[in-house]
Amino acid sequence: METLFDKLHRVDPEYYTEEYVAKLSAQLERIRSLKRKRNAVLLAHNYQRPEIFEIADFTGDSLGLSLEAGKVKSADVIVFCGVHFMAETAKIVSPDKTVLLPHLGAGCALADTANAVDLEQRITELKKQFSDLQTVCYVNTTADVKALCDACCTSSNAVSVVKAMPAKNVLFVPDQNLARHVALHVPDKNVIAWDGYCYVHHQITPESVESIRKQVPGIKVLVHPECRDDVLKLADAALSTSGMIEYAQASDAQQFLAVTECGLSDMLQINVPEKQFFRACKICRFMKMISLDDVEASLEKMQFEITLSDEVRLKAQRSLDRMFELTGGARDNLKLPAYVADE
Ligand code: SF4
Repeated sequence: METLFDKLHRVDPEYYTEEYVAKLSAQLERIRSLKRKRNAVLLAHNYQRPEIFEIADFTGDSLGLSLEAGKVKSADVIVFCGVHFMAETAKIVSPDKTVLLPHLGAGCALADTANAVDLEQRITELKKQFSDLQTVCYVNTTADVKALCDACCTSSNAVSVVKAMPAKNVLFVPDQNLARHVALHVPDKNVIAWDGYCYVHHQITPESVESIRKQVPGIKVLVHPECRDDVLKLADAALSTSGMIEYAQASDAQQFLAVTECGLSDMLQINVPEKQFFRACKICRFMKMISLDDVEASLEKMQFEITLSDEVRLKAQRSLDRMFELTGGARDNLKLPAYVADE
């Protein structure tokens, strides 16, 4: 049977030495015992550190984690290893649970590009021009922003949600790259993009993708829709992080390039060891803030608890519920040859 050392060493042989993995292993045992004591479940996003995956009860993308947080019944505590807006989403869908974010610095640069005051002003302005205007917010937004929107979406279902909105004019907040991707697949709507982007995905260049494609002919290129347009054009498929894992598992291909945050490449190497993964990725400093030390301290001291006012929580919940109503939790998982042909 594969040991913890085998798994972590495969991800990064220089970082995960035998001595370091032994230390992590002892710490993982202590955390398991704290989880039992607190009756806690731990949810981890696909971009987290590999040792966090080891202690997680569930790993996934934003959509999967929102669905899972809503299903937590028997636990009292949800420890959320991701970033702040994700922990807020867990609190929205599981209001009776104590939700802990182990590191308060784990924010999101993309979510920070849209605040509630600016959004309210923009909606008012646009409604003068487009009386039917509805607002869709990507899940990477604060609860205050979700509370102002008609529906929420994730990267896996953004196209389905916008398609199903009963309005021709849709303001899409905050990711301009995802908005462009949606507009291309829903040509009968006027998708108005907010001016935000994720600094991690924005740094990935077409040159970095093309140079690997030249070195490895036939490689399947999987791109996250938060990437720039010139990078998305090079994709075989535009997928959420969980969509990439499913694609790599199901595909006959043996070699893949996952173009997104680097944690996903770690996750693929752990979960699909029989295939080969190349990297054109960047690290999100927010996603990597949470360490096992933080998780242990979080469960020991019950820190840092996420709280929301009832007013914001209920309005934000309506926006999330709308997403589930419109999509039934479905993923789009778009393949992109059609996208390339459109250009
Ligand atoms: S990768 Fe981008 S969108 Fe995701 S948490 Fe980091 S800054 Fe936010």
